[in-house]
Amino acid sequence: MTEPAVVARLTREITSDLKPGDLEDFYRDLHRHPELSFREHRTAAKLAGRLRAAGYEVTEGVARTGVVGVLANGDGPVVWLRGDMDALPVPEATGLPYTSTVDGVMHACGHDLHVTWLAAAAGMLAAARDTWSGTLVVVGQPAEEFGGGAAAMVADGVHERFPRPDVLFGQHVAPGLAGFFPHTPGLTLSASDDIDVVVHGVGGHGSRPESTVDPVVTAAYIVTRLQTVVSREVAAGEWAVLTVGRFHAGTQSNIIPAEARLSLNVRTRDTRVRERVLTAIRRVVEGECAAAGCPVPPGVTVVAGCPSTVNDPVLDDEIAAVHRELFGEHTVFDFGQVMGSEDFSLLAPAGVPYDYWYVTSTPAAVWEAAPGEEPAEKFAHVPGNHSPLFAPDPSVLVPGVRTLVSAALSRLGALRA
Ligand code: ZN
Ligand code: ZN
Repeated sequence: MTEPAVVARLTREITSDLKPGDLEDFYRDLHRHPELSFREHRTAAKLAGRLRAAGYEVTEGVARTGVVGVLANGDGPVVWLRGDMDALPVPEATGLPYTSTVDGVMHACGHDLHVTWLAAAAGMLAAARDTWSGTLVVVGQPAEEFGGGAAAMVADGVHERFPRPDVLFGQHVAPGLAGFFPHTPGLTLSASDDIDVVVHGVGGHGSRPESTVDPVVTAAYIVTRLQTVVSREVAAGEWAVLTVGRFHAGTQSNIIPAEARLSLNVRTRDTRVRERVLTAIRRVVEGECAAAGCPVPPGVTVVAGCPSTVNDPVLDDEIAAVHRELFGEHTVFDFGQVMGSEDFSLLAPAGVPYDYWYVTSTPAAVWEAAPGEEPAEKFAHVPGNHSPLFAPDPSVLVPGVRTLVSAALSRLGALRA
């Protein structure tokens, strides 16, 4: 590693000619054209174009829509910078002048910012390649939100086809007064599992329930009883969240449908708690279906899980020190662990250290207007990720490039002290 003060000075030098207007144009264009998981064709092409223009060797179509840019620049470590690219099925309600032009789809998680930061940082580091030595790998990941993009990239040989990382960096835009850079050493994000449940009943006429097994009522009991899994089976000091996010059954009022479908999401931090919750879900679903007399056992399928994200504490300390040096002592603090999840860590081969931090982005006026005196109260009231009102302040465009540039420089061999 290079001294934080040296990294900060080099970062300022390298990024001194960053043009906020250009960054904003690129960002607004991405925001206007959000694309869902594994459909990030336009976004990927924009990122690939920037990387190619900066001199990277670019491979597109990794895990369908992923982009990998490699800049080999002499001896030294291999540093990976990763940004995710997908948007969400959320109808935008921000009223921004650069609001989404795609019906029902929005960059509600800020991955458009991530792509902008990544493209700009990659460009700056390439232009300043005389200041460092090593190999830079820039990864535009598809389908973080849904579909397991990181796992798909690994399955598509991202660790074999490109230089394997010695270290991996990622960052995420977050709510909170714009201009802070929360860092958490160790466990920062929870594990996430999606579970699909199919209740098989017997369909029939709404006037003759006695000739059916009603899957709507059974599924309703399942939803209710699932509320006891966390409250009655997980110890008070442990962490778990169980949400039934989708309940689909039936077509009209006078038909009892033949099946009902539920989709659940589970967040945990500890493997034993995770196993206990998943076992309980299976038991509750099977038990309720047996109690209702369902003719066929229910389907319970665990889909696309991602593990918890555990930052290397030494690496996180190092990068936090660099960010403090760059933006001021008070701007870096420990967010603590959150129940959000990420598939970022899957891109790190076993044993390879990684660091993942946040860039807060709530515009000052929105933050001031939020009810409450304490930051925690305000935090609960400002639009967060996945909200149709999520609108990061463009003032974070430049800082988010500097966080990435400085992290990379911290580990790439510095040629100029
Ligand atoms: Zn998200
Ligand atoms: Zn996200």
